[in-house]
Amino acid sequence: MQLKIQTILDRYGADKTRLMDILWDVQRSDGFISEEATEALAEGLNMSACDIHETASFYHFYFTQPPGKHKIFLADTVIARAKGYEQLRETLERVCGCAFGNVDDSGTFGLYDTNCIGLSDQEPAMMVDDIVFTNLTPEKVERIIAGLKAGKSAETIAGVDRLDPAKIEYVEALVEDNIQNEGPVFFRADRDYPTLLENALEMLPDEIIEEVTNSGLRGRGGAGFPTGLKWRLGRDAEGEEKYIICNADEGEPGTFKDRVLLTRSPGDVLLGMIIAAWGIGSRQGIIYLRAEYWYLKAYLEQQIEDFRKHGLLGNNILGKNFDFDIRIQMGAGAYICGDETALIESCEGKRGTPRVKPPYPIQQGYLGMPTSVNNVETFAAVSRIIAKSADWFNALGTDESTGTRLLSVSGDCERPGIYEIEWGVSLNKVLRMVGAVDPMAVQISGPSGECVSAIQDGERLFCYSDLSCNGSLMIFNRHRDLLDIVENFMRFFVDESCGICVPCRAGGVDLYQKIRLIRAGRGSEKDLADIRSWGTLMHATSRCGLGTTAAKPLLTTLDKFPELYEKLLVTPEGPLLPSFDLKAALQAHEQAYQDLVQEKQS
Ligand code: SF4
Repeated sequence: MQLKIQTILDRYGADKTRLMDILWDVQRSDGFISEEATEALAEGLNMSACDIHETASFYHFYFTQPPGKHKIFLADTVIARAKGYEQLRETLERVCGCAFGNVDDSGTFGLYDTNCIGLSDQEPAMMVDDIVFTNLTPEKVERIIAGLKAGKSAETIAGVDRLDPAKIEYVEALVEDNIQNEGPVFFRADRDYPTLLENALEMLPDEIIEEVTNSGLRGRGGAGFPTGLKWRLGRDAEGEEKYIICNADEGEPGTFKDRVLLTRSPGDVLLGMIIAAWGIGSRQGIIYLRAEYWYLKAYLEQQIEDFRKHGLLGNNILGKNFDFDIRIQMGAGAYICGDETALIESCEGKRGTPRVKPPYPIQQGYLGMPTSVNNVETFAAVSRIIAKSADWFNALGTDESTGTRLLSVSGDCERPGIYEIEWGVSLNKVLRMVGAVDPMAVQISGPSGECVSAIQDGERLFCYSDLSCNGSLMIFNRHRDLLDIVENFMRFFVDESCGICVPCRAGGVDLYQKIRLIRAGRGSEKDLADIRSWGTLMHATSRCGLGTTAAKPLLTTLDKFPELYEKLLVTPEGPLLPSFDLKAALQAHEQAYQDLVQEKQS
């Protein structure tokens, strides 16, 4: 054990900030992170075993107990639930011989639920030992498990065992892209990256930042912070080192555009990162890749290596006095790591707990140094802006929301997949474009966003001042139980809260209980009032975006579809009272007491 751990530690220079990678290597070697391994790591890293466990226990995909030879994670999302999730769950339990959350008696199968794995356009989906299987049916699940029982690997069953994971064919064999339209900015074929970078490096760093500022580009991760301003702050910030981080942790349920960008246009993302590094003055970049996209890791590493070979990464890039390189940091399953400060904590080998701001990452981020965290789509857009000009980008979209936006569309529509729209397009137009089928509600930006009515809100526009979509668009038709969807979203927030602050940790659970109470027909007007006031409180007092938005599934559906709640409420005239009359209930006891007092006195 000691020797094996030492080999792993040596791989990372026994650097405790690389604990995420170290834990992955231990788990991939031993199947899980045992107490013995934890002790050995603690000794080698000069940490306590509690420190190691603190990180290991935070993430969904690290195991501190044997998880089964084959780990099966079935995505439990509202889209999967609309497409047969329950049946698949029953099938898996039957054929594997164990309930979810358990390992079968032989130790062969471990069944686990997981949240969105970035495949909402081809759900139901599951991961088996890092291999993804999509468009599942009970029959397909039975075949997969029979194959595993026969001793085949997940890769063999998926038909990719003879393919090179570093090649696009491997990725294509596992997952479809579903790019549904051709837009002006993204997914351009045959881009000449050496020439594009050469041209970009002809510009001074300040000119790069000015061009990005003039383009009006705002962060595509959701917050919409002006990219040029962030980079200006980064350039001006004091720091021995500066870092560029690409946030590829798209965990918002219903979002999968970054998956497709990384598959189809990885060069655009890398080029955007290099341009950012030139502008800010950085020598090191990190792509934080969610563990659900493990099947993209070797492919992306190859893309990075190809860039190095062409002199686009490494030392003296294209003969200039400019050094910059990129490494991939794998996540380990935590929605909260989409928050930039939680992501930085994770990159430093810690739990993904959001930091108190200020200081902001651009002032004091990774390893305490100025760090620009930008989304995959933002970097890809930058690569086009610098090639085509800010004016070209500015002419797309609206005055306030320039350029285009990628939408990941799923749910009740004929053509789920990726759409590039210009900002300023109406919801109605998008619904027609994707072939929405009898839509009732549209969830914009995932659970943390807004649930709108397909009827009342059809004329609303996609733009930062109205539907500032973060890329996720889920469509629900009239046959869907919207409150079941709300309950699923509320459970999601309970699962994913990091728990550091009370409003989110306790409030999330309370709101989850409220929706369950209402759906069980035991809620009252008072519960609706509580939801509104607690939601406001959570918004005002939570530390990060998860807590501030966690009440939104309830609040936005209450706003748009109040009748769905009202018809389930208990009323004073109904069979059950929302509360009981304490005085009346105690009247008999009070009378008995008074009688007793009187009797004693007489
Ligand atoms: Fe953690 Fe929730 Fe607080 Fe964010 S709001 S820091 S997720 S407890």
